[in-house]
Amino acid sequence: HKSNDSDKTVSLSGSTSASTDSDRTPIRLDSTEDGDSGNWPRQNSLSLKEWDIPYSDLLLLESIGKGRFGTVHRALWHGDVAVKLLKEDYLDDEHMLEAFKLEVANFKKTRHENLVLFMGACMNPPHLAIVTSLCKGNTLYTYIHVRRDKFTINRTTLVAQQISQGMGYLHARGIHHKDLRTKNIFLENGKVIITDFGLFSSTKLLYCEMGLGVPNGWLCYLGPELMRALLPRKPTEEILPFSKASDVYSFGTVWYELLCGEFPFKSQPPESVIWQVGRGMKQTLANLQTSRDVKEILMLCWSFQADDRPDFAKLLSQLERLPKKRLARSPSHPVQLSRSAES
Ligand code: ADP
Ligand code: MG
Repeated sequence: HKSNDSDKTVSLSGSTSASTDSDRTPIRLDSTEDGDSGNWPRQNSLSLKEWDIPYSDLLLLESIGKGRFGTVHRALWHGDVAVKLLKEDYLDDEHMLEAFKLEVANFKKTRHENLVLFMGACMNPPHLAIVTSLCKGNTLYTYIHVRRDKFTINRTTLVAQQISQGMGYLHARGIHHKDLRTKNIFLENGKVIITDFGLFSSTKLLYCEMGLGVPNGWLCYLGPELMRALLPRKPTEEILPFSKASDVYSFGTVWYELLCGEFPFKSQPPESVIWQVGRGMKQTLANLQTSRDVKEILMLCWSFQADDRPDFAKLLSQLERLPKKRLARSPSHPVQLSRSAES
């Protein structure tokens, strides 16, 4: 690990475009980490070693699925774990490797009920992998779009509150999620577990995917500032302006999916969605039967100007203030029903 004591903001591409604004992503290591900002790279590499898992210690089992980053396997390592293997194509890309290490460094700072548990990483090429706890439940995506479950407003609100709590924590730690979507949010016995935070640093991946066609149900999470950055053909090293506010925009989309059971701009072609959102247009809420307060949260999260979007602390208090819908009480099970209305 190369160290440079004076430079605390590490840009993937070496470009300076994003390093001026502290709220813009590129991998920015929290300088207060470990309470010693003076020699963070050394601290950092030391503590990275602590989290190093020899690849040979993992017993890889079946693959669970594929994402843009690589393949995810179920594996055994002191019990069930999920192992995200980095795609081989990225192994000889120096920036990608550096980005991977920095993301792992970020990952190890996270300890929160609503965030997937980071257990360690394999840091020796060609075996680059991130090991986390295995989520046993389904993703919100599966509940909403595959099983087509309907969430009551009370359940929706509880889920949104937990997401806000986890996200508020990440932001307080100086980490931007950059890929908050229902596929990255698990629900285990009513508890929200957010995954894949901060793993989206390689813009190259993004542009590759743009060329190959944008994955369905992904564009609608990008705020106007990100859409506009996609439009002109920028050099691939350019870093997209991910920020806390762009995470809040994505949260708005998750909130919409929970409420409506579908994606905004459903079945519209990508170019059209990019064009509309980039110009400040929003999915209409005309057909959404819900209270004004609920819609207002959506509209605030989707504000065109990033500065107009609330932060997660504000969102949490807004969600907590939403009136709870009373469930109809059945005379035969009054106690149970009133409990479920609270939970
Ligand atoms: P995506 O998020 O686009 O689905 P990923 O590469 O993140 O792509 O995940 C691939 C598959 O692995 C998905 O089905 C996802 O739900 C599953 N997965 C990812 N992380 C975990 C985990 N910690 N526990 C259980 N399943 C996981
Ligand atoms: Mg994922």
